[in-house]
Amino acid sequence: MSVAENIEGIRQRIKAACERAGRDPAGVQLMGVSKTQPIELIQEAVDAGLNLFGENKIQEAKIKIPQCPHSARFHFIGHIQTNKAKDAARLFEMVHGVDSLRLAEELNKRADNEARDLKYLVEVNVAGESSKFGYSPESLLNDIGALADLPRLELHGLMTIPPYTTDPKRSRPLFRRLVELRDACEQKLGVPLGELSMGMSGDFEIAIEEGATIVRVGTAIFGPRKYRNPKADSDA
Ligand SMILES: *Cc1c(COP(=O)(O)O)cnc(C)c1O
Repeated sequence: MSVAENIEGIRQRIKAACERAGRDPAGVQLMGVSKTQPIELIQEAVDAGLNLFGENKIQEAKIKIPQCPHSARFHFIGHIQTNKAKDAARLFEMVHGVDSLRLAEELNKRADNEARDLKYLVEVNVAGESSKFGYSPESLLNDIGALADLPRLELHGLMTIPPYTTDPKRSRPLFRRLVELRDACEQKLGVPLGELSMGMSGDFEIAIEEGATIVRVGTAIFGPRKYRNPKADSDA
């Protein structure tokens, strides 16, 4: 199957999931997770009408983004080390992985240096996995006011990466928890937080049924990832 055929198939499945949930498909953005994938495949996806992409390594993104069509927008979906905040604030339209006030403050400073505003989502570790990045729900509720106050950062919502499972139904309660937490944050702030970034190749339909507005789909669009070395995925 070509990238274009894969995208078409996923769009159909997004539409069907929206129908089941009584949602408008226009409320769900499909992100092509292009990490490790070559420019040629991103170009194929752009030609097929996809214009939102996700990368999770600053080094890789620095090389790839300038070579991609201008219509392609990029979101950062990896863990950001504070020493990479400058590049993240320069290269991306939105960052999905903000998991501490300290990192948000650093991004705010770097965005200010670039004289721009940066959109972001807070990552939440809803399952409480010790190996994962992300705010715990409790500490997010503590910090949410301070996070929303940073002048150069625009808080748009929450994102989560559920634990790996071969049974996507197990992600459903975690997606629900993210929605509840988003509602609690909205109440605390008194402003809407519209975006919920949740759902990947294996579980995006369930995520949409639960309210996802951005689904991050990699392998189902581009096929297996092309790692140059096995350590590459853990080193941002
Ligand atoms: C790699 C990655 C994805 C895409 O995963 P697939 O299972 O290939 O769709 C989505 N979200 C994040 C944060 C990722 O790192």
